[in-house]
Amino acid sequence: MDLDALYKLTHGLYILGATDNGRPVGSVVDAVMQVANKPVVIALSCNNQSYTKECIERAGVFGLSVLGKGVEPYVIANFGFQSSRNVDKWESVDYCIRDGIPYLNDNIATVRCKVLQSIKYDSNTLFIAEVLDCDNGESREPLTYLDYRSYFKDEVIKRFNEVKQQKEKKMAEDKNEGKHWVCTVCGYVYDGDVPFEDLPDDWVCPLCGVDKSFFELQ
Ligand code: FE
Repeated sequence: MDLDALYKLTHGLYILGATDNGRPVGSVVDAVMQVANKPVVIALSCNNQSYTKECIERAGVFGLSVLGKGVEPYVIANFGFQSSRNVDKWESVDYCIRDGIPYLNDNIATVRCKVLQSIKYDSNTLFIAEVLDCDNGESREPLTYLDYRSYFKDEVIKRFNEVKQQKEKKMAEDKNEGKHWVCTVCGYVYDGDVPFEDLPDDWVCPLCGVDKSFFELQ
C-alpha cells in the first residue's frame, strides 16, 4: 500500500480555534471538508494528542480560519509546533473573538461550527459538525496542504527558529535589565556603549587592569 497516494487528496490549511473555559486555544488542521448541505455539515479530523481537540470535546463548538496563500509562515509554526496546553498561541498573532471563538485576522474565510457527532480512532477524532455561521473574506487563493509540503514548510521552520531566538534573546535582556558589569577587584562599573559581552577577550579593567573574567553582573 503506497500511502503517498493519499497526498493527492486535496486539503487546505486552517487555524482551528476553540476555548478552554474562556482561554483561547488553537491548532493547525488540514483534514476539513464539507460533507452535507442540508443542514450544512463539515467533517474535521483532529489528532488525539491535540489539546484543542480536548477543548472542543468539552465545549462542543469551534471555529476555522481559512488560510490564504501569502500568510506569514510564523502563523503555521506558532499553531503547529507548540501545544495550547502550555502556550498562549493567540497572543503571538492578530486575532479577534467572535461568539466566544478566536479567529485569525489574516483569513480568507471563517466558519463557526457546532459538533453533532464524534468518532474516535486510535490516532484521530473525527468531528461531524453543523455550520452555524460563515463569513467569506478576501478572494485570495486558499493555501493548500500541497503548498505546505512542496515549498512552504522550509519557510515555516526557518521563521519558527528565528522567532524562538528573538524571544530567548529578549528574555536574557529582560533578566539583565538594570544590572551592570562590575569589576570584583576594584568596583569599577562598566558603562561603555559596546555591550560588555562583545568586548574583545584582551579587554581589561581601565582602573585596576584585570581581565573580563573578574567582572560580574550585579
Ligand atoms: Fe577593576
